[in-house]
This record gives sequence, structure tokens and C-alpha cells, in this order.
Amino acid sequence: MGKKHDSAFTTGSRTLLYSITWECEVCKRTRPDKAISVHKVDLSEAFGIAVGTCMRNIKYCNDNGTCHARAIAEGEKEQKRAREIKEREPNDVV
Ligand SMILES: [Zn+2]
Repeated sequence: MGKKHDSAFTTGSRTLLYSITWECEVCKRTRPDKAISVHKVDLSEAFGIAVGTCMRNIKYCNDNGTCHARAIAEGEKEQKRAREIKEREPNDVV
């Protein structure tokens, strides 16, 4: 399998080629940087704290509609879980 480099970094006379890869949290495949997007989920409101202070980033394949849909579903599930934790243990959430 040929290795494909996405980025090049030149220092002096040397050029370093490297690939940035990420693991999709949905299908668990390792993908190049450009094939991965991040679905940002704000859990702050669910925890009752200031908006934007508790973010969850879910990485998914941006060329795969199923991965995207599952990343969104996972984000909603985490918000629901956060609300349940807050209701059950209100004093543990600061
Ligand atoms: Zn994926």
C-alpha cells in the first residue's frame, strides 16, 4: 500500500513529509486529516454551567453520512446523559 502524505514541512534543506491522521469515533477507522471533521457538542447547558465551558468533540468521517449521523446522535445521547447526571447528583456538578 503506497503511503500518501498530506503535509510537507520544510526546514533548511530538508523537507519532511508527514500525514496527519485521526480515528473516527464512530467507525474506528484511521483516516487522513481532511476526511475527519469534528462535531462539537455543548454539554454546558445540560450540566447547568456557562455555555461553552464544557464541550465534547466527536470526530467523524466527513465523507460518510452514516458516521456524521451517528456522531450527531452520540452528541444528543451525551447531552441526555449529562442532564441525567445533573438531576441525580445535583451537588456533584459545580
Ligand atoms: Zn467513520
